[in-house]
This record gives sequence, structure tokens and C-alpha cells, in this order.
Amino acid sequence: MLAVTPPASPLPHVEPPRDCPLCPRLAAFREALRLEHPDWWNAPVPHFGDPQAWVAIAGLAPGMWGANRTGRPFTGDHAGHLLFETLGKFGFAEGRYTERADDGLRLNGLIILNTVKCLPPQNKPTPQEIATCRPFYEAALAQLPTVRVVVALGQIAHGSAVRTSGGKLSAHPFGHLAEHRLPDGRILIDSYHCSRYNQNTGRLTREMFEAVFARALDLRDAHSSPDPLC
Ligand code: SF4
Repeated sequence: MLAVTPPASPLPHVEPPRDCPLCPRLAAFREALRLEHPDWWNAPVPHFGDPQAWVAIAGLAPGMWGANRTGRPFTGDHAGHLLFETLGKFGFAEGRYTERADDGLRLNGLIILNTVKCLPPQNKPTPQEIATCRPFYEAALAQLPTVRVVVALGQIAHGSAVRTSGGKLSAHPFGHLAEHRLPDGRILIDSYHCSRYNQNTGRLTREMFEAVFARALDLRDAHSSPDPLC
């Protein structure tokens, strides 16, 4: 019995099956955790947010005690505090985040997509696992024609976002607050990942993280609605 029930995916037709076998190492890890923690989610983590979003966050992969446990991206671990506080401050989140997938938090104008949907050991997916899961990320973005800005959290998500758009990594180097016009017309803004490690080491401060979402709003405001950034 799950400890909490995660919200239904806003993009149910592009989610992998609960027992997706495509990455054998991740599937075996998932199976072991199902025995150890039968009340955890322990499955590919569904996308979370607004199906009419104009911003998509490209995340890395579920964290062990966060999304892999609760079933909702960034929910239940350290990274979620800074992320959801920041989204609330900039008007992208509504409601109270309580580290539970059933807390009723809603995202407006923004959707969170993981680029690797299953928990990798040590939080490190292999290049092959990243490539194997990318079609699920691509399929999700294809269902989101209103997304004009992608915020990539970390280098792996940056790579998936660039490749998905048909771009070359050599033409789009990663850097915090680096901005890229992608071949598909979307704008990519890079951010260091809001992981506990990056926060504790000072690599990512609250101010640095907030600057990313402030920039996304600047981009929207600089262009006319209702089709921002076109
Ligand atoms: S990471 Fe993606 S492709 Fe790999 S097993 Fe999980 S859902 Fe399937």
C-alpha cells in the first residue's frame, strides 16, 4: 500500500509503463526497492504540472527519498524545498507544499519533466540510460506546444533538452543562467541543479536559483501575450 497517492499525470499517453523494462539496471534496482520499501512509489515518476504550461523544467532523475518514494517530482527531499518555494514566489505554484504528493499543490504555467524517469543508483544514470529514456521526454515535449522556455536543472538535463531540439552540445555549452535559442525555437535557460549537495556547497544559492525564474518571466514580459516568446 502506497504511503501517499501521487497526482495523475497531465500527459498520461506519453508515460512509460510502471514496469518499463528498457533499462535493465534501473529495473533491477526498482525491483529490489519494491521488496525493501513496498509503501514507496518505486516506478517511473510521472510528469507533474500544467498541460498548458509555457515553461517546462527539465529535471534529472527521481531522488531515492524524494520522487522515487512519493511518486511526484522533487517531492519529499531537500531539493523540493527550494524548488517549490521558488515556484511559489514567482507565481508558478499555488497551495502549500508539505513534502507529500497529496498536498494539493498546483503548478500554473509550468510543468516538471524528468529526463530520466527511474531512480538511478547513486543518482547517476549511465549515458545509455539517459539516451534510452529520452524518447519519453521528447514525447512529453511534443505534447506541450505552448512551452516556449525550458529550464534545465543540471548538465544531464541540459544535454537532453539540447538533443531533443535537434541541437548540438558543442554549440550550446552548459552554464548557470546561460541562455540558448534552440533549433525548435524554444529558449533554454540553464541552472545548476537544486540538489542538497549544490546548495550545501554554495554552488547554487537561493538568489542564483531565483534569477533563473526571474529571467523566464522577463522573457515572457518582453514579448506579447497570449503567445509569449514567439
Ligand atoms: S529510465 Fe525510462 S526508459 Fe529506463 S526503465 Fe525507466 S522509464 Fe524505462
